[in-house]
Amino acid sequence: MKTSNIRVRFAPSPTGFMHLGNVRSALINYLFARQKDGIFIIRIEDTDPERNVDPHATRILSDLAWLKLSFDEGPEKSGPYAPYFQSKRTALYTEALNTLKEKNVIYPCFCTTEELEKKRQRQLALKQPPRYDRACLTLPKEEVKARFERDMPFIWRFILDHTKTATFYDLAHKTMHFELKHFSDVPLTRQDGSFTFLFANFVDDVAMKITHVFRGEDHLTNTAVQVALYEVFEEEVPVFCHLPILGNVEGKKLSKRDFGFSLTDLQEAGFLPEAITNYLAIIGHSVPKEIMSAQEMIDSYNFDHLSATGQIKYDVEKLRWVNHQWIKGYDLDKLVELCRPFINKKLPMLSSWDHEKIKALLLPIKEELVTLKQSADLLTFIAERPTLDTTLLETYKLSNSKEALKKIIPQIASGSPETGVLALKALCKEHSFAVKDIYSLVRIALTGSAQGPAIHDLLGMLAPEEIKIRLENLVK
Ligand code: GLU
Repeated sequence: MKTSNIRVRFAPSPTGFMHLGNVRSALINYLFARQKDGIFIIRIEDTDPERNVDPHATRILSDLAWLKLSFDEGPEKSGPYAPYFQSKRTALYTEALNTLKEKNVIYPCFCTTEELEKKRQRQLALKQPPRYDRACLTLPKEEVKARFERDMPFIWRFILDHTKTATFYDLAHKTMHFELKHFSDVPLTRQDGSFTFLFANFVDDVAMKITHVFRGEDHLTNTAVQVALYEVFEEEVPVFCHLPILGNVEGKKLSKRDFGFSLTDLQEAGFLPEAITNYLAIIGHSVPKEIMSAQEMIDSYNFDHLSATGQIKYDVEKLRWVNHQWIKGYDLDKLVELCRPFINKKLPMLSSWDHEKIKALLLPIKEELVTLKQSADLLTFIAERPTLDTTLLETYKLSNSKEALKKIIPQIASGSPETGVLALKALCKEHSFAVKDIYSLVRIALTGSAQGPAIHDLLGMLAPEEIKIRLENLVK
């Protein structure tokens, strides 16, 4: 039984993927609901046919499940205010529109996009605030009737009282005031008859008894207009909280060109859901510690000290650090499970290897892993024999040690890493070779690179016959 009346909602459009700003909104809604013992609702904003790429919001729901952001009401779960797809709630919007018609606070606007753009340009040129000039508000009744009869496309606009100021409370920005004289009469419908998100969200927030609205700061000015709607309907205005927009390292709004813009980028690169939510909870916010479990985030997130900075830096390097910490914290068995899909995809040859074998391969590289995908990258040498770079080999003086190395191949490939390492050490001693040169040569022969796991580990990771083939290739 929930003890509070707090109800929050995450209202994504089913555009086919979630960007990190969406993920952050979902997370903050979730943390607030869980901390305050409230209800977390998912409501799909699918009123715009052009943005409705994933009609059943399958992707959003699977992403939320992947992120472990559980909700209480929403698609596939239902609840007392179903349906949770806005496209199925149009009767409600029509009813609200009719109420506004009766109150005489809306009018049809027949202006085309081109006309509106021209007016806007003209106002800008005249250094006037770009605001709809209300040309259609004063159309004679007969003219409006005639246009309706001709089926001329139109939208419904809500008349804003230019003498008024919209006031609302925002957890981050505190009390906000917006003079409505700076705003255009706001469109409530589109020319195809569908409802704008601004109107539909207002209607649903009232219908679903939403008490707190957490969303991106890009909606701050929309709120002024929504508050005007709350007033006309004499409904209680919820508390708002506009979250800073995520910016890239250059301080620009995060865009598709930035790695990590979409959740898909991060999933494919092998970031953990726990690390992503952990990272998004700590940025732009003072926290008691940086690595936190979901419960710790719920308990410690401080909603009284939210920043109103407008933009916060989304720093993939920091996210990588958080991911690294999470990977290090997992035990090896769990890590095998998590890395498996990446290893199987990149190195199909290893897909038939059993759990224990993969575990033995991951043990020496575990501490290095920053992303899960790197497991496949670091293990590529197991599946693929390296091509040797002769120039690189000469930097480690292969010509000097070639003949001597040839003689000890049987010991190195004996199947016992200890024997192999002892043989290499003895070789260095006997011929006064630098250990670094010899180890680098063996590592290059086995992996293609002079850097990587310790020789002892490498000799345990590859089969003895394979070690033999690769070393013979080195000294041939
Ligand atoms: N679909 C909007 C967004 O993701 C939701 C706006 C709102 O929460 O009211 O930004």
